Amino acid sequence: EPPSEKYEYQAEVSRLMDLIVHSLYSNKEVFLRELVSNASDALDKLRFLSVTKPELLKDAVDLDIRIQTDKDNGIITITDTGIGMTRQELVDCLGTIAQSGTAKFLKALKDSKDAGVDSNLIGQFGVGFYSAFLVSDKVVVSTKSPTSDKQYVWEGEANANSYTIREETDPEKLVPRGTRLTLYLKRDDKGFAHPERIQNLVKNYSQFVSFPIYTWQEKGFTKEVEVDEDPSEAKKEGDEDPTVEKKKKTKKVVERYWDWELTNETQPIWLRNPKDVTTEEYNEFFRKTFNEYLDPLASSHFTTEGEVEFRSILFVPAVKKDEIVDIKTKNIRLYVKRVFISDDFDGELFPRYLSFVKGVVDSNDLPLNVSREILQESRIVRIMRKRLVRKAFDMILGISLSENKDDYDKFWENFGKNLKLGCIEDHGNHKRIAPLLRFFSSHGDDELIGLDEYVENMKPEQKDIYYIAADSLTSARNAPFLERLHEKDFEVLFLVDPMDEIAIQHLKSYKEKNFVDISKEDLDLGDKNEEKEKEIKQEYGHMCDWIKKRLGDKVASVQISSRLSTSPCVLVSGRFGWSANMERLMKAQTL
Ligand code: ADP
Ligand code: MG
Repeated sequence: EPPSEKYEYQAEVSRLMDLIVHSLYSNKEVFLRELVSNASDALDKLRFLSVTKPELLKDAVDLDIRIQTDKDNGIITITDTGIGMTRQELVDCLGTIAQSGTAKFLKALKDSKDAGVDSNLIGQFGVGFYSAFLVSDKVVVSTKSPTSDKQYVWEGEANANSYTIREETDPEKLVPRGTRLTLYLKRDDKGFAHPERIQNLVKNYSQFVSFPIYTWQEKGFTKEVEVDEDPSEAKKEGDEDPTVEKKKKTKKVVERYWDWELTNETQPIWLRNPKDVTTEEYNEFFRKTFNEYLDPLASSHFTTEGEVEFRSILFVPAVKKDEIVDIKTKNIRLYVKRVFISDDFDGELFPRYLSFVKGVVDSNDLPLNVSREILQESRIVRIMRKRLVRKAFDMILGISLSENKDDYDKFWENFGKNLKLGCIEDHGNHKRIAPLLRFFSSHGDDELIGLDEYVENMKPEQKDIYYIAADSLTSARNAPFLERLHEKDFEVLFLVDPMDEIAIQHLKSYKEKNFVDISKEDLDLGDKNEEKEKEIKQEYGHMCDWIKKRLGDKVASVQISSRLSTSPCVLVSGRFGWSANMERLMKAQTL
């Protein structure tokens, strides 16, 4: 037997294992989700690579996951026929933290100020392979990569800082390809090795894994067996006629046996007819696929045909997630003809400002070996992107029209900034974005209004949409510029978020009505009286000159204005200059 070699874990691994075990203590069962998702990833990788290298599939074993339990000894084995690992990969993947999920998790921990570990936070990342030690004293991984002619065994124990690797020599354990994990459960966790418990966990956690998951289950069927009549009874009858055929007695017995049972639904939900999918199923798919703990605010399931064919389900989450950690989130899972390709292409499929949208996209028109370069060049992707963006806007509009007003308030609070960014970055979609914007106004207290509502409330003689930018609602409300507009009962939008004004300036107009900043000079409220203005100018012209002289360079000019009713004077911005608010912003930026 070849000797086993001992390796030390990278320092972070030990720390991570410690953290996982302590912070997930009360939620141990996630181990199964993690290990099944690794098996599913391994199968995905194999299927993907086999497109260009069909020889990888030469050992014609099905692509599936099998989970067997031995409740008497407290052992669970999870077997997949995926890509497996070479010796080097065992060291790299199971001895160091180079991999996505866990690396992100550690970064998140480092970034979050308070060192206290929030198990919600952990839930968002998926802690990966090491979660096996939540329930196991010992974990053995026997694995065979199709690129290596040898099979290797990795063995590690809980609370240890080293592991071993040796070659697999037991002929009974040799497999053509894939990975088998054997978990030797801790004394208190042996309950996980009950077949029904595992079945329930798989149903609960892995329902949307797109490979079949079989669990080893005890089955039974009843059958009738013939039983001989009791000979003592036959004797009693005495004078039996031997020509009459003896009536045979039968008895029902239950025959027990063990067999693999398919435990998950493998038809991807997006391939089903939307009419047959319930909201709860969509919600569950969302939560399971994206590791979310809240249901989405909205979802949209659609198929496009014709020029470009693809299916998609999109979601708007109820919470913003990536605040704590500034890492690229995996929001859009791209499939080509049902084969998972990557979750790293959101940038190609959605503009940056819609990066909060999550979902799956399955295309029949892209090549399976699609790369970022291909996506960026592809005309098909351009069309897909356009359609996806439209669907996303329809979905958001749906939230805004929903009877439950809270939903849109939530949406706006989380993603309003994204839409404002959209005003700046995506002029082509202004007509879709603008109706979704919300602002404070002079006619409301703290409630937000949309532009449609504003336009509906406009006075017959009002031509423009008025706004004022300020650093707070109070200073907007107290601005002297408002006086004349109040008198006329014209509504004024209060732009108190730093991005509001920039967004509005990019929009320029809405429903053919211009946005007009009431703090800029020569505000025209459509009520000019030229006679009177002339008179006033004559009367006060000298005074203006005098003030300008006194103030010198501090102001550009001093003018007579008709915009005030009670305040004696007001400081305004030049028509082509920055508004006071913009000036404030620019100053803040250059500091
Ligand atoms: P992640 O899945 O986020 O990459 P994990 O800790 O779950 O992190 O897994 C680490 C790595 O170990 C995986 O990226 C993969 O390369 C490898 N691995 C784990 N399980 C398997 C498996 N069943 N088959 C092949 N490789 C695996
Ligand atoms: Mg994983």
